[in-house]
Amino acid sequence: MISPVWHPYAHLSTQPRPPKVVGGQGPRFMLEGGEMLLDATCSWWCMIHGYGHPRLVAALKEQADILCHVMLGGLTHEPADRLARELVRITPTGLNHVFFSDSGSVGMEVAMKMAVQYHHLRGKPEKHRMLSLMKAYHGDTSGCMAVCDPEEGMHSLFAGYLPQHHFAPAPTAPFSASPDEAEADLARLRTALERHHHETAALLMEPLLQAAGGLNMTSPHYLRGARALCDEFDVLLVFDEVATGFGRTGKRFAADHAQVTPDIMVLSKGLTGGYLGHAATLATDRVHNAFIGDSPQHAFMHGPTFMGNPLACRVALESLAVFEDEDYLGKIARLNALLDQELEQDRALRSHPAVEDVRVLGATAVIEVKDAAALAGVADHARTHGVWLRPFGRWLYTMPAYITSEAEMRQITDVMKSWFR
Ligand SMILES: *Cc1c(COP(=O)(O)O)cnc(C)c1O
Repeated sequence: MISPVWHPYAHLSTQPRPPKVVGGQGPRFMLEGGEMLLDATCSWWCMIHGYGHPRLVAALKEQADILCHVMLGGLTHEPADRLARELVRITPTGLNHVFFSDSGSVGMEVAMKMAVQYHHLRGKPEKHRMLSLMKAYHGDTSGCMAVCDPEEGMHSLFAGYLPQHHFAPAPTAPFSASPDEAEADLARLRTALERHHHETAALLMEPLLQAAGGLNMTSPHYLRGARALCDEFDVLLVFDEVATGFGRTGKRFAADHAQVTPDIMVLSKGLTGGYLGHAATLATDRVHNAFIGDSPQHAFMHGPTFMGNPLACRVALESLAVFEDEDYLGKIARLNALLDQELEQDRALRSHPAVEDVRVLGATAVIEVKDAAALAGVADHARTHGVWLRPFGRWLYTMPAYITSEAEMRQITDVMKSWFR
């Protein structure tokens, strides 16, 4: 019988029947019939503790006995209050206010509405567009699609339906670039701001790592330069750390590499350790305080039904505690060293005729090929070796759970390399 489940990003006429997952433990999930697959992607980058983590599961059960849900409109509860305080503590200094929502896309919608209303309340209603970067991905809802790369993104067919925003070129200087090498990228960003700042509410970026747009990595100097340009042109800086947050780039947040505080920062994916959908949009005092006033326009008119869901907040708190108790930044550094040695430093791989580039940042590694056809069949190849890989376009990548052992990490890199032998 054909299932009524409509799967994402799939051609319905040619998609293979999706295997059924019946459970998971650590970095592996189990399929019907007992096949175990080592998940090289940690389920779209969110299951940072792997599957069935005893502390996260226990936290959910405990919270379920106390309170599964209550609206955050006009009410509050302990898990939401505590999680907001924790997020303020661990994020860059100055992000003191937390608006919860239910997914990364909605968290970005909140950020963009906040930026537009901020300028409106300051008497600059003409600053109502976004400046985004080429190769950006910020989510699949309408507002987010409009700030994804308009050509390479997955949403070009919707162009006529979407509001128009501005785009600056994607940065090209690598992570290790010198300040001088980042200058050309910043000069292009300056040009875009000079042209459009009078109608721009915010500059949006996935700091250091444009993830779904092809795992493009850039330099912390770019973040610092962008911060200075935003101040110069009275444009808010929004960091979409939905993918980069919680250790993916090697520090807790990508912003930490540059010691930059954005005006608004969005977190999701790893926030709950992947155990429930949730997001947080953090703002500085400057942004928040612009909303203090008694005209009807001062209220922030957004409120997802499930914002601040107690189960999600409780499991997020446990996720943050495990991250610190078990020295996840140390684990990430060890995964990084292994990815670097096994992939980025592998001469044979780098010089393979099909390979364009090999890049590693934190617990992220990608083999970029010249032609997407070179990756046809790689997922099946990996599965026969017990690994779940899900390449997209020209990018074969891994973003493992941080509890992945060194032997397991090597199993993943071996499978990735063996495809090119
Ligand atoms: C995944 C992602 C989003 C969207 O998050 P959803 O929870 O899927 O809505 C937004 N921004 C970035 C950078 C992402 O990687």
